[in-house]
Amino acid sequence: MAATIIDGKAVAARAREEVAAGVDALVGEAGAPPGLATVLVGDDPASAIYVTNKQKACREVGIEGIDRRLGADATQDDVAEVLTALNDDPAVSGILLQIPVPDHLDGDALTAMIDPGKDVDGLTPLSAGALAQGRPGLRPCTASGVVELLDAYDVPLEGAETVVVGRSLLVGRPLAFLLLERNATVTVCHSRTRDLPAVCARADVLVAAVGSPRLLGADAVRPGAAVIDVGVNRLQDGLAGDVDFEAASQRAGLITPVPGGVGPMTIAWLLRNTLQAARAARGATRVR
Ligand code: NAP
Repeated sequence: MAATIIDGKAVAARAREEVAAGVDALVGEAGAPPGLATVLVGDDPASAIYVTNKQKACREVGIEGIDRRLGADATQDDVAEVLTALNDDPAVSGILLQIPVPDHLDGDALTAMIDPGKDVDGLTPLSAGALAQGRPGLRPCTASGVVELLDAYDVPLEGAETVVVGRSLLVGRPLAFLLLERNATVTVCHSRTRDLPAVCARADVLVAAVGSPRLLGADAVRPGAAVIDVGVNRLQDGLAGDVDFEAASQRAGLITPVPGGVGPMTIAWLLRNTLQAARAARGATRVR
């Protein structure tokens, strides 16, 4: 039987409505809207599209977008100067440094400069440490979006066998911690995992965050499993995920499409984190 398709656009649209209402309320209390600063270095076309979409999404919910772009020849000091100014600017509630940055820059060091209270991507060492220790903080957007999609479709996580393929700081690792927080049993796979399809086939919930088109086929999917495909791979004939959608959807119970699955959730969580950061900065609530 073919799987139910998870509608990430619809879940994200609801989240964005909530954020818009929260922004309205905050403007009523505080007078000024939250501000999200995006920092893009270089001229990678995919990154430029991501940043433009994030700016547009901000405007749609009443968040003020601050769009900082630096040339591909910007130095570490140039970017650091921009980040310091944004850290110090009270109109900026959240800062997102679009990664990857050009090779001559140290992206980790730049990310670590972001004020943790404005770290709406949840990628600074302080935010990552707080998540690992189960303490409050801003959590990474894509991983948070994956868990929200599972919740939206009532997928039980407590005690569930979950397999995350990919261990990046951006997606795989934070997702493993979020799933542990929900009392799932978590297996994290990576490029050295032996017999990947067999490990994946144990999963009640399978999440692919690899960046390898259609890496996981039907043999990696347990019948009835929930399959979340984070991968975005640009091929000549369009976008493909890390899961072979046609094959996997014949065995899965639930599956995300690419596009239209996880992607919209990432942006929704960026807006949500920006609102949370603004509230926390104005003393309305603690972060998370
Ligand atoms: P990444 O930093 O390149 O990490 C990829 C991970 O996959 C690594 O842990 C790597 O293992 C593992 N891997 C690579 N080849 C493998 C294989 N053959 N078998 C098993 N594991 C393998 O990528 P990322 O930043 O996490 O992104 C992953 C994908 O998600 C990309 O397609 C990206 O575009 C997409 N993405 C989408 C969104 C969204 O909003 N939809 C957001 C973020 C990322 P090692 O650690 O051993 O190298």
